[in-house]
Amino acid sequence: MAEGHAVHGIAGRLRQFVGQPVRSRSPNGTFEAEVFDRRVIADAQAVGKHLLVTAVGVEPTVHLHLAMDGAVSVRRHTRALEGGFPRTEPPLHGNVAWRLLSATHHGELTDPAVCELLDAEGVLALRARLGPDPLRDDADPDLARRRVQASRRAVGALILDQKVIAGIGNVYRAELLHRARLDPFTPGHDVDDDTFDALWQDAVDLMTLGLGAGWIVTDADQMADARAALVRGERVPRWPKRYAVYGRAGRPCHVCGTTVRAERMGQQRMFWCPVCQAPGRRSAGEREGPDDEDRPRRATRTLG
Ligand SMILES: [Zn+2]
Repeated sequence: MAEGHAVHGIAGRLRQFVGQPVRSRSPNGTFEAEVFDRRVIADAQAVGKHLLVTAVGVEPTVHLHLAMDGAVSVRRHTRALEGGFPRTEPPLHGNVAWRLLSATHHGELTDPAVCELLDAEGVLALRARLGPDPLRDDADPDLARRRVQASRRAVGALILDQKVIAGIGNVYRAELLHRARLDPFTPGHDVDDDTFDALWQDAVDLMTLGLGAGWIVTDADQMADARAALVRGERVPRWPKRYAVYGRAGRPCHVCGTTVRAERMGQQRMFWCPVCQAPGRRSAGEREGPDDEDRPRRATRTLG
């Protein structure tokens, strides 16, 4: 499933239509795409894993959620079209729910989980049921912190819950908690302010880098190389993924070598290292390096 950084990346590609009139239709009849036909696209933005697209002078907003199978492609025409619109449309491939054509670009949405028109009230209701999104400037981390600390649920389930924080998916969940040396079974009300604030800031940093790179980078060396590439204005290559714990059940933690464990938590499997993330290892204001050998190593955990 696309995590928040990927959805923000798609919003960025859709913004290539902003300021342009478009032909808009739904080849498979998913929704009333004609509402946007011959209108000028005003904005495309992501809120967590949701996409919202608006047009000038049109009340409804197009609301998209890609879930597991949805995909958006946006391609530039080899030549800008004379007269603004194509006379004949390109052939269709796959199950296209929305096609957008402008003088310069061709966009297609296939197999979305949600593709619908929302009125202003519907947009407000959607925003209200989503937690703050670390990639949005208007995000309020205090709201996410309050929601975490008000709960007895495990922090690993809470940060994947889109009502608490919008945009974090299963990879970022596992890697963020590992980087914080935080036991995923820690109850939300035991997560202190400093721990939460560091976790939030790390989510902002990691997801911003993921948005720039176009893929999830969490390994310290790869992060440094990716940042350097972005500073030079270069594309970040798709190096082999090096997660510390995600997807590594039964294999060694990349930091300490302990066998990574996995268990269903929230909607998906949680991966964690029982040593790096031993219960009680992380306390207020403390952030330990991976080479900290002084701590007692505990290979077992108790369910929180
Ligand atoms: Zn470890």
